[in-house]
Amino acid sequence: MKIAILGAGVGGISTAIALKKKGFDIEVYEKSSNINERGAGIVCWPNASFVLDELGMLDDVKKVSGAPTEMRRLTDKGETIGSLNLLKLNETMGYPSYSILRRDLMHVLGGHAKKLGIEIRYNAEVKSITTTPDNLAQAHLQNSKTIKADVIIGADGRMNSVTRQYVLGNNKPVYQGFINWVGICESPKEMFSEMAVCDYWGVGERFGIVPVSPQKAYWAGAIASVTLAERNPETYKSELFSIFEHWPAPIQMMIEKTSLSKMNKIYVHDHDPIKRWHRNNVLLMGDAAHAPLPTSGQGACQALEDAWHLAKILESKMTDINKAFQSFASARSDKTAGITLGARKLASSLFNTDAAFCLERNLNSKMMNYDDMVTGMANAWASGLGMDEHAKH
Ligand SMILES: Cc1cc2nc3c(=O)[nH]c(=O)nc-3n(C[C@H](O)[C@H](O)[C@H](O)COP(=O)(O)OP(=O)(O)OC[C@H]3O[C@@H](n4cnc5c(N)ncnc54)[C@H](O)[C@@H]3O)c2cc1C
Repeated sequence: MKIAILGAGVGGISTAIALKKKGFDIEVYEKSSNINERGAGIVCWPNASFVLDELGMLDDVKKVSGAPTEMRRLTDKGETIGSLNLLKLNETMGYPSYSILRRDLMHVLGGHAKKLGIEIRYNAEVKSITTTPDNLAQAHLQNSKTIKADVIIGADGRMNSVTRQYVLGNNKPVYQGFINWVGICESPKEMFSEMAVCDYWGVGERFGIVPVSPQKAYWAGAIASVTLAERNPETYKSELFSIFEHWPAPIQMMIEKTSLSKMNKIYVHDHDPIKRWHRNNVLLMGDAAHAPLPTSGQGACQALEDAWHLAKILESKMTDINKAFQSFASARSDKTAGITLGARKLASSLFNTDAAFCLERNLNSKMMNYDDMVTGMANAWASGLGMDEHAKH
């Protein structure tokens, strides 16, 4: 069986690796000219670490990652309003959490793909997908080449997925009313004495800092905004300084020490959960199928889970593609829809612009039982993976 994967992001490459390990014939097509390093960083939560371990990559991820111990919530004045014990989360789920720069994760994935002999064809932008008279989809590249395969996996992301357009007839993501500036801050001197993720909450504003090592972190500063405007990298720092001027010192440090080339500004979109995941021989996965908001912290983790599930399902139901696709969609739809909707709920609270609401939200955060929260997160994130049977970390 020949499988073509369209898009070499976290989802596309990890799926290529998972399928190659099961013996499938894989081709990967990516529109960028090289491995896609865009984006700041992600936390590989224990569910993602489980998948990375299953795929033989966790040790290499660990080498370039940080191990966060706590997720602290603070107000815009620096008062602590909650703390989630990540060591407890790891212990409950049986795998570690790792903070990693996106470029480093992509290089680990790319390195493993190379070792397995997976060729990623770069500069290969899919322009359209058509259907043959015998109901097989074919993808057409910008260089007029046509991709024919038994299975075409749509791993082409959230913003303009050609495969989502083919399967659903509509690929427009939904703007969720906030802007994220993201960045990577690296310094020759130590900036962090502890590996605590710090999440500062204001009124319709938020700033999160995730250390990856004592000298390195990625961060995201966000504000509610009903309008989408131009992006001008030259003004990113001044925009951030004016919004976060009176916020605690670590935030000023992040903005100050991050070079403009390591910053980006994102008008944050997600996708509504879908019922239909496939059409003919095309199957959606990763952000093309279920792009959650960054407030989920689970986008890349869920793309990795897709890879793991898909390889298992295709291996066992290889003779009936339709059945395999249906099994995949039913294995993945509830969990990913729950994550998408949960992330929207958190975003609507974080980016609420009513001061009284935010005061109450912060008071609730102070009163929250964080042990129960750990248990809830562990149950939700572990679901469908059978991690208990495998846990060894
Ligand atoms: C601000 C922000 C912060 C985030 N933080 C986190 C986090 O902390 N934790 C987390 O788990 N996730 C996070 N995410 C989400 C995460 O980055 C994505 O969910 C994840 O990368 C999805 O992987 P993917 O492979 O489906 O898509 P992508 O990584 O977007 O990859 C899609 C690939 O397809 C390629 N492509 C697109 N169109 C075509 C085409 N027509 N032809 C060929 N190739 C094409 C693209 O170039 C790209 O390489 C965040 C996202 C955002 C926006």
